[in-house]
Amino acid sequence: ADEYGYDYEFLFKVVLIGDSSVGKSNLLSRFTKNEFNPDSKATIGVEFATASLDIDGKKVKAQIWDTAGQERYRAITAAYYRGAAGALVVYDITNSDSYENVSKWLKEMKDNSDANIVIALVGNKSDLGHLRAVPTEEAQNFATEHNLLFTETSAFTADNVDHTFKQLIQNIYEMVS
Ligand code: GDP
Ligand code: MG
Repeated sequence: ADEYGYDYEFLFKVVLIGDSSVGKSNLLSRFTKNEFNPDSKATIGVEFATASLDIDGKKVKAQIWDTAGQERYRAITAAYYRGAAGALVVYDITNSDSYENVSKWLKEMKDNSDANIVIALVGNKSDLGHLRAVPTEEAQNFATEHNLLFTETSAFTADNVDHTFKQLIQNIYEMVS
């Protein structure tokens, strides 16, 4: 049992990566606490947050790691990736640079993680459709080509956030079980 008396059969480490300001911390707080923080400066970098899920009647715990702003300096260390079973590579649909940088994040991750890691590409800020800079179809095609799960989310409205995390964790579960 863990510190809350919760017994689990599977524990998966999941990491959040992607450029600064794409919404990684808010995706995590939306999923684990149903909270959104409009002021990025007020975002306090937590080391990780946990979520407990039932998958096929099994108790699964996900330990989801967030950066504390190191991504600004491209200084994410190997320890961050170590032991990760899954990753969410996040970009901002209104920021084409953040999408162009996805390839760099994928490379850094692959250099530092297990070959069988499950990866989800996530286009966040879907509520800002009027400012969209990255077409859905382009990102979807990239994801298909690179064997990544793909969704668009809004941490602001909560649209697709639960589904994105649960789908990733379900895919990890299916790979290891
Ligand atoms: P991080 O640097 O990747 O962790 O990004 P943050 O979670 O700190 O978010 C950066 C900024 O974008 C903050 O001002 C957030 O309020 C804002 N933000 C995050 N997610 C969304 C979203 O889905 N929609 C909108 N409109 N803003 C968002
Ligand atoms: Mg953050």
